Amino acid sequence: MSAPILNVVELSKTFGGLKAVDALTFAVEQGETLGLIGPNGSGKTTVLNLLTAAFPSDSGRVTFDGKEIAGIPAYRVCRAGIARTFQLVRPLKGMSVADNVLVGRIYGAGAEPIGPARKKVRELLDLVGLGGRAEMPVDALTYIDQKRVELARALAADPKLLLLDEWLAGLNPTELEAGIMLVRSLKGRGLAIILVEHVMHAVRSLCDRCVVLTAGRCIAEGSPDSVLANTEVKRA
Ligand code: ADP
Ligand code: MG
Repeated sequence: MSAPILNVVELSKTFGGLKAVDALTFAVEQGETLGLIGPNGSGKTTVLNLLTAAFPSDSGRVTFDGKEIAGIPAYRVCRAGIARTFQLVRPLKGMSVADNVLVGRIYGAGAEPIGPARKKVRELLDLVGLGGRAEMPVDALTYIDQKRVELARALAADPKLLLLDEWLAGLNPTELEAGIMLVRSLKGRGLAIILVEHVMHAVRSLCDRCVVLTAGRCIAEGSPDSVLANTEVKRA
């Protein structure tokens, strides 16, 4: 078996006395979709923030693609191959939809001439269903469409590991099925994914394995069906 793409060992983060992530250990295999689930405030977003160096961890080791990444700056984490979307969207306001994604391409993926970069942006906008809206100001999009921009911007960095923070939340049933198919197609391209999600139907249909958090600690790990049937998990 090949080594995991991501290996997290005893990762911890405290905010003013509150242990948001508490000696958490888990791994993501190559091409695997790992569900990170748990109640609000259990530390899911903080885990993603620590992995992407949005802020430093207090302790712990993170190895990605064979290299230690704890302590390296966010732009280098991105260029190493980890990209994310934000639970609360963070579009670059005042810029077009296409330019939002182009920024992800130019700063995230490294040196590339502008022509091929724009071509890649068009492909990604088609993929996320925004092909016809490339030149619109990003601020004019609905919240859900801004989430699509976030996904395209993350993919523009050519990640090996994609972190989705409740990306499927708020979609109507039709959009949800389309969103699940889209995430499945990314998985089909060999991308490893950490899916932070409350929509259990999506967790069941997409995740190979789940890690369940409460108060920053893992209380269960295993297949979606086995963890969702676990009594401690149901209570949480
Ligand atoms: P989840 O994504 O599972 O809902 P979070 O990771 O956002 O949980 O939050 C875990 C805990 O850490 C919560 O109690 C939250 O209030 C706290 N927290 C998260 N980020 C910060 C921060 N930047 N400053 C202070 N407290 C934070
Ligand atoms: Mg969160």
